[in-house]
Amino acid sequence: MNHKPYNYWILDDAPLNPEQQQALTNHLDDCPLCQQLKMGWEMSEQLILNTPQHPPAPGFTQRWKVSLAKRKRYHGLLRLRLSILGTLLLILTSFITYLVATGSFIHGLAYLFNFLSEVIFTITKDLAGLEILISKIPAPIPLAAGLLLVGLINALLFFLLLACWQYFRREFSFNEVKIN
Ligand SMILES: [Zn+2]
Repeated sequence: MNHKPYNYWILDDAPLNPEQQQALTNHLDDCPLCQQLKMGWEMSEQLILNTPQHPPAPGFTQRWKVSLAKRKRYHGLLRLRLSILGTLLLILTSFITYLVATGSFIHGLAYLFNFLSEVIFTITKDLAGLEILISKIPAPIPLAAGLLLVGLINALLFFLLLACWQYFRREFSFNEVKIN
């Protein structure tokens, strides 16, 4: 048996002409499957129509609007950051490409290595000189001086790191407020 047109007629809300209505009634008389479909559909329809709608909690619209504005702002901020990052990457990439293309990249690299090795050489030379100087001082004094020096360097590094951290943190929150 072909149920297809009858299934459509049962489920569709479109009005049927008298001929179609008659055909459907005839088919329903002999077809338990389509009877079941019609009954099930009518029951579901009633259930949907009769279920009371729950009103939203008071202030729902207001809260939704606020959260929408927040989300919009957040996405705007994200887009801004991504575009800044993208621009920086683009500049960096084109800069490196330019350096590589013109051959100055290798020169720059060579220069950097040269500079670094010179710095390291100078430091080690000075340290050797310092060691000679320290070796001439009676034993208890260089030990105390060394401890003092190490302590001072540590303290300096610590304060430098702290200052850097606070500066970047302030910068970050400043930007956050400004953009918002
Ligand atoms: Zn049928």
